[in-house]
Amino acid sequence: MAQNYYDILGVDKTASADEIKSAYRKLAKKYHPDLNKDNPEAAAKFKEINEAYEVLSDSQKKANYDTYGSANGPNPNDFFGGNRAGGGGFSFDMGDIFGNIFGGFGGRAQSGFSNAVRGRDITTNISLTFEEAAKGVKKDISIVRVDNCPDCRGTGAKNGTEYTTCPDCHGSGYVSFSQDTIFGRIVNSGSCKTCNGTGRLIKEKCPTCGGKCTKRVQTTVTINVPAGIDDGQIITVRDYGDVGLRGGATGDLQIIVSVAKHPLLKRDGSDLLLDIPVPFTLAMTGGEIIIPSLEGKLELKIPENTQSGTILKLRGKGVKNLNSGGYGDMLITVKVELPKLGKNKKELAKELNEKFPMDKFDKYSEFAKQVKNL
Ligand SMILES: [Zn+2]
Ligand SMILES: [Zn+2]
Repeated sequence: MAQNYYDILGVDKTASADEIKSAYRKLAKKYHPDLNKDNPEAAAKFKEINEAYEVLSDSQKKANYDTYGSANGPNPNDFFGGNRAGGGGFSFDMGDIFGNIFGGFGGRAQSGFSNAVRGRDITTNISLTFEEAAKGVKKDISIVRVDNCPDCRGTGAKNGTEYTTCPDCHGSGYVSFSQDTIFGRIVNSGSCKTCNGTGRLIKEKCPTCGGKCTKRVQTTVTINVPAGIDDGQIITVRDYGDVGLRGGATGDLQIIVSVAKHPLLKRDGSDLLLDIPVPFTLAMTGGEIIIPSLEGKLELKIPENTQSGTILKLRGKGVKNLNSGGYGDMLITVKVELPKLGKNKKELAKELNEKFPMDKFDKYSEFAKQVKNL
């Protein structure tokens, strides 16, 4: 095909093997016919991508291509010649390609590659003050996660260079074996055993990771904790878990939130609850009481003759609702408090009692009547 393989994969001529592979995987996933049932051009594109990768992932073919503009180089048998052990050449039969790359071991891995392994999720905790949770806060948290080894860039090979592309799978990590039987042609596909599905044969192992390709690293993640988060909720930060293997997706970071109690305020979803003791005299005459709120201290007006148990509502003074973005209310329950009576105050209480006889209390009178009628 007289097409520029570099353009097909969208990479520079100077791109590294890893860059080529990563570009290939992205495109292969994008144009995979299973995912593009409504786009008939995807299959052709997919074929092109595979062809380009077949050449560019193989150092010899790539060199030929760079020099001669053809993967075949001066000798056409190099490419289609079927000189690979157990291979019979890479067939561009579509069924083979799909079987080869996406072939089934039962469900498809998240990346679309059947031997890709998604990285693990990491779980950690974060402690917030009551106000931080209610108003939102930026927090740095330190985590230990498995990342690609920095010294070999996840290749497992010394300096990230001491490896060759696996000759059996040409770097794809997959091979297909076809067999003609009386039932017809059977194509089995799976992870390449030669390279253990990595697509690479390591010449010299990376001394840092010992060829494992990954390394545990400590990193700091800055989290924007949203206003309105509550105790026990979990913040998920995508792609901050362990790195995946063989093109597998990176795991997530799950942060379990714990929120400290406030000495006075409580939360009920996005509403703020507060009980206030109100001296009975103030409850009778009305007046002001200083209360805490998310915006600092407020002066709350207690109306004249406020009964114990009355709930005073301050609209919009609650906590931001994570879903709606609106604000809850502040619900303040009045608890009328009676004073402790010293000897001389008892006389005063008796006087009050005479001024407010039992039948002057509406609710009490109604209650007494009902009890009487039982
Ligand atoms: Zn390494
Ligand atoms: Zn291989």
